Amino acid sequence: MKEDYYKILGVEKNASESDIKKAYRKSAIKYHPDKNPGDKEAETKFKQAAEAYEVLGNSEKRAKYDQFGHAAFDGSGGFGAGGMNMDDIFSQFGDIFGGAFGGFGGFGGSSQRRSKGTNLRIKVSLTINEIANGVNKKIKVKRKVQAPGTEFSTCPQCGGSGQVTQITNTILGRMQSTTTCNACSGTGKIVTKKAPGSDANGQILTEETVEVKIPAGVEDGMQLRVSGKGNDAISDGISGDLLVLISELDDENFKREGNNLHFDLYVSISEAVLGVSKEIDTVNGKVRIKLDAGIQSGKILRLRGKGLKSVNGYGTGDLLVHVNVWTPKTVNKDQRQFFEEMKDSDHFKPNPDKNDKSFFEKVKDMFS
Ligand SMILES: [Zn+2]
Repeated sequence: MKEDYYKILGVEKNASESDIKKAYRKSAIKYHPDKNPGDKEAETKFKQAAEAYEVLGNSEKRAKYDQFGHAAFDGSGGFGAGGMNMDDIFSQFGDIFGGAFGGFGGFGGSSQRRSKGTNLRIKVSLTINEIANGVNKKIKVKRKVQAPGTEFSTCPQCGGSGQVTQITNTILGRMQSTTTCNACSGTGKIVTKKAPGSDANGQILTEETVEVKIPAGVEDGMQLRVSGKGNDAISDGISGDLLVLISELDDENFKREGNNLHFDLYVSISEAVLGVSKEIDTVNGKVRIKLDAGIQSGKILRLRGKGLKSVNGYGTGDLLVHVNVWTPKTVNKDQRQFFEEMKDSDHFKPNPDKNDKSFFEKVKDMFS
């Protein structure tokens, strides 16, 4: 059964013409396909609202509907079961949006108004710890908002369409060209009363603190979108977006490679010979690792799950600890004597077996 047209628009049976128009405009903006891309339910609601308005917005049709209900339009050029298509809606009711949306591209509508506010871009620099754990950043944004008290009227030059069509007679015949209206810059509205301090579009620049929730695992160059925190649309419509560009600060301890982190650990010759337990900082706190006696410089220890979370929530990278044996740059007399004695010791002669792969082979393994 078809839903009642008054119910669809959410108005009373005795609603005035202007209330019906307002109610339709409200639901048309709410369910507009530009605002709900790919949402079939919204599309259906958008169509239903248009169908309801097609009837209730016309006094003759409304009277018939009041008397006979949906039956009034069955098989008589009404919408029947098929309903309206998007092209019908935009060509018939484009004006109702009052420039609320930026063109109706993709639906072949006739209106081409630009009335989404412009986007703002801002860069945030994050430490590796912020990236590892996610962070809420309070960002100061300078955005243009509609000044209270501004009044608009329909642009007289384009009649509110935001566009002007010119027909020129040329030797090839009549040429038609459509350009953005220069009186209203395509918004379809002109400012008739400006609030103090506002610009030509009736807007003022304000500073606003926007909280941006940055998920763990973001990468340098990624862009997050905060809907509606760009500049306001001129007159009415939807505000632009705030685009937050992620920038990664270099870290002195960790080098990032995808979701894995690399860390250089330095141990003394004695520690390498005798074995040692070391506490190291990771992005999720301290971890104690044990190095076996006789560990070789260049050995890479993989600490699973101690890297960065994947930004899409699937898995966590590893922390790769690169062991570097630190060779003292100077020695005192006693130490010199000790190392002189050890020089010819069989224990000190390099004797790598197949388990002691060269650094380059290990790196190759890691990437394979
Ligand atoms: Zn205009």
